[in-house]
Amino acid sequence: MKQSSCDVVVIGGGHAGCDAAHASARMGVDTILVTMRLADIGVMSCNPAIGGLGKGHLVREIDALDGVMGQVADYAGIQFRLLNRRKGPAVQGPRAQADRMRYQSEMLRLMQATPNLRIVEAEVVDLIQTGDAINGVQLADGAEILSSQVIVTTGTFLRGTIHIGEKRISAGRVGNDASIRLADRFADMGLTTGRLKTGTPPRLRRSSINWDVLEQQPGDDDPVMFSFLSTEPVAEQISCGITHTNEETHDIIERNLSRSSMYGGHIEGVGPRYCPSIEDKIVRFREKASHQIFLEPESLHGETVYPNGISTSLPEDVQMQYVRSIKGLENAEILQMGYAIEYDYVDPRCLDDTLALSTLNGLFLAGQINGTTGYEEAAAQGLVAGLNAAARVLEAEEVTFSRSDSYIGVMIDDLTSRGVSEPYRMFTSRAEYRLSLRADNADQRLTPRGMKLGCVSEERAEVFQRKAEDLDAARTVLTEYRYSPSELSEYSIKVGEDGKRRSLLEVLSFPEVSLEQICDVDPRLKQFRPDVLRQMSNEAVYANYLERQQLDIESLKKAEAQEIPIDFDYGKVASLSHEMRTKFIEAQPKTLLQASRIDGVTPAALVALLVALKQADKMTA
Ligand code: FAD
Repeated sequence: MKQSSCDVVVIGGGHAGCDAAHASARMGVDTILVTMRLADIGVMSCNPAIGGLGKGHLVREIDALDGVMGQVADYAGIQFRLLNRRKGPAVQGPRAQADRMRYQSEMLRLMQATPNLRIVEAEVVDLIQTGDAINGVQLADGAEILSSQVIVTTGTFLRGTIHIGEKRISAGRVGNDASIRLADRFADMGLTTGRLKTGTPPRLRRSSINWDVLEQQPGDDDPVMFSFLSTEPVAEQISCGITHTNEETHDIIERNLSRSSMYGGHIEGVGPRYCPSIEDKIVRFREKASHQIFLEPESLHGETVYPNGISTSLPEDVQMQYVRSIKGLENAEILQMGYAIEYDYVDPRCLDDTLALSTLNGLFLAGQINGTTGYEEAAAQGLVAGLNAAARVLEAEEVTFSRSDSYIGVMIDDLTSRGVSEPYRMFTSRAEYRLSLRADNADQRLTPRGMKLGCVSEERAEVFQRKAEDLDAARTVLTEYRYSPSELSEYSIKVGEDGKRRSLLEVLSFPEVSLEQICDVDPRLKQFRPDVLRQMSNEAVYANYLERQQLDIESLKKAEAQEIPIDFDYGKVASLSHEMRTKFIEAQPKTLLQASRIDGVTPAALVALLVALKQADKMTA
């Protein structure tokens, strides 16, 4: 029997697996990544895009610790857009549409070039265990890789089943076998597992779309990159097309609902509420006569187009019919049918905050296997598991994150303490410290930690030091002199009718004052890079709110024991969203602490509930 050994084995070369293996190898630990197909490293199973609201924050945090996702996304990005640009910087989300093939080939190149990392193409069918410790993995050909730490990142592959109408196919995603033997092994281990589902739209032939009649959406003029090491896009930039479903589309779908896998009763798994299929949208939002679709080319030169917004599990003939009812798609050819996939996940409450299993020494789980959805959530978990598996080998301290230092910390805490009732995706509303956890300051929050851990390259450490020095220098210029309102008015800045003298940093906190105006007041500021000035401006804007954020968090903590009357009317709490209200009504928590432990309940909803409970107390007092 063939036998080899290493310190850390990572099973799976998807998004969690790549960042896990790279993190472990960066720490100087001998690492092997085992994945079913070498060519599938870094595959984007669904949409060809990285980032977005909340997710973009995760990518920035991964990058701050020198993870790979952000750098590869920057290299492969063919359209960059900062989402929520008109809202405050805390909730803005960098997003890039990526050339799928460029993303995959760059990820493979980077992984193959990483010291301490070997890649093995094989299926893992079993875990080798002695007592309550892991000793390695067994491959389908009988070979063994011995290792004291194993990270499982098998995504949607555990007992994966594809559904298209009434058809069912055993697969990890289209074109890949499911992982059955490993799923059986998890079931035998007595772990709590469940079924979740997700879906993908049909892919269209680019040359069969009538682009001339479609609205175009270009990227941003000033692209915001993911990596703190990147300055501008390297790939050619493109626009995508926009079209809409219409009455006829809805009619076709409505008439065929019973043939959809999801509505025909073939799928037991729970799907992502925030990424609904077109069938879901039509049933749940009957009042809407039309839904927007973004037609995103999957690569610069290839023929495949991803129609973002119409994922489905309807049969082939219905997919064909409804696609062709849409403007610009009258003659569209489908290259790959849309489908839903159902798969096993493991209840993440069996993990500690390093993503290690509490009951078996040396086994970590990361990515979609833990009930999350999305490439970014997967990669962030991979990073945490990779750093910790390496830390165990090095007998170093655990690497944990908290809700106050990162979105990574928010996600890990949500998963391991609340579990999931539907596929978990990141949103800024999940973070109580979101004003301080911004995408722009992810490096300030996490890179110094990475430098101490030893997972950050010299190049990144230097870039970080330079930026930190620039921020200090800019802060000095912005605070060293206090201007009177009349001095400021010479530059058309009208703040402070109270007559108070203010530093330029304080002046920047007024939303109507621009950075350009401030630079006119003190031209020394023009020497600083735009990202440095933008960060100073964000700090200034949020300084006033941070105290309020802290007070809200403290009052929630203090009020955890606050009782909620059985007949409390959640309908009367006007600021609660329909989703939050439903969660409270279903769970009927008895105290605020119980309310805070309901999966998906946001800090803002808890604050609104607390205020309403206090008002109700006052009225009855
Ligand atoms: P994956 O990227 O799935 O990678 C798993 C890896 O493990 C693969 O490389 C596989 O080859 C390997 N592997 C599995 N079993 C074994 C084994 N036994 N031995 C060796 N290697 C193994 N996310 C969204 O956010 N929005 C969506 O709309 C969305 N739609 C999706 C639609 C479909 C059809 C699918 C399949 C996924 C969708 N996703 C969506 C999810 C997204 O693809 C995942 O969240 C993300 O890829 C998870 O990353 P991961 O690393 O956990 O797993």
